[in-house]
Amino acid sequence: MAQIRIENVRKEFGSFTAVQSSSFTVEDGEFFMLLGPSGCGKTTTLRMMAGLELPTSGEIYIDGEEVGMKRASQRDIAFVFQMFALYPHMNVRRNISYPLLSQGVAKAEVRRRVAEVANILKIENILERPVGGLSGGDRQRVALGRAIVRRPKAFFMDEPLGALDAEFREHMAEELRALHDRMGATTVYVTHDQLEAMQMGDKIVVMNHGVVEQFGRPQEIYDWPATKFVAKFIGSPAMNFLEFDGMIGNGADSIDLSGQKVQVPVSRQGAKGRLTLGVRPEHIHFSDASEFRGRVIATEYLGTTQIVTMSTANGMVKARISSNKGVNPGDLIGLEFDARTLTIFTEERGLALLSEANAGVLRHG
Ligand code: ATP
Repeated sequence: MAQIRIENVRKEFGSFTAVQSSSFTVEDGEFFMLLGPSGCGKTTTLRMMAGLELPTSGEIYIDGEEVGMKRASQRDIAFVFQMFALYPHMNVRRNISYPLLSQGVAKAEVRRRVAEVANILKIENILERPVGGLSGGDRQRVALGRAIVRRPKAFFMDEPLGALDAEFREHMAEELRALHDRMGATTVYVTHDQLEAMQMGDKIVVMNHGVVEQFGRPQEIYDWPATKFVAKFIGSPAMNFLEFDGMIGNGADSIDLSGQKVQVPVSRQGAKGRLTLGVRPEHIHFSDASEFRGRVIATEYLGTTQIVTMSTANGMVKARISSNKGVNPGDLIGLEFDARTLTIFTEERGLALLSEANAGVLRHG
């Protein structure tokens, strides 16, 4: 098993920078997600970690050893791709045995390791079947078996569930996570799907345009997004952004939102001018006492909750409230927020201001 450390790793393709100087650590045994929109540099980062792409600069360490000069085959990593290529003319057992047989492992040991893997993946009953007639799920398990059987230091997966339909995808995601927990192996997993990342990951790196925007546990990233980009990318509906002119810092703990004093976390950093208040839909409450009002535009029924879209003097807002509350388009509603959950972003770079509440997570400023 392995700890993988990336230090100031950067990748240029000609004059284009695919990955800006990036640093993060994947701890031994973690299920680690590289998350971001298409083209943000996830795959390039993974390929550099695996030794399939050379960084333009920076260092990569596996268990403390700098592996910059080591080829992929010397890094003891198993890659699981989206399109699982199995050998169609071989049965399941041969497909799984193949990496060991090609390394010259003794036949008895191969049998033992294949049995062990088949047990982990619950595919003992299909070992002698040809792979041609297998279901998508079983093919996926066989491909995983072929990766696991080598007992590599780490597994690298690039959108392995991307081609599956939604229901099966969720099932396989649960299975992959359970498999990881049984084996305790370090896994680095690329996805553009924030739900998948939140559901499966111990830690998440959020990337955008080649930049690591944030790195942390799913709840940290959800509760305390470091940038506006992260706040928008994680969560559905996304965090609301309300623009205001104001000043924050020197222990100030409130802002003025269209005449209503709004309590915010005490800021450690000073900022003034155009700022943005970030509030999650579930942290908005209806209150007759509030002067900050929203005009209801639409409601969306989701079973136990509903999403209410409102227009306010500071921008559009989506609130997630109980479905029991009767709300109609045209209603004018006073709005309150949970003070300790609010984030303030600077206008210029969209960075979250450091507060007493989020300082331990954001580590910047
Ligand atoms: P996707 O989910 O679409 O694969 P990604 O986040 O994995 O996106 P990368 O594949 O890492 O993104 O690509 C990052 C950027 O680098 C993209 O703009 C891509 O076009 C560019 N890129 C990747 N490989 C090369 C290459 N060999 N030569 C030139 N540009 C490249």
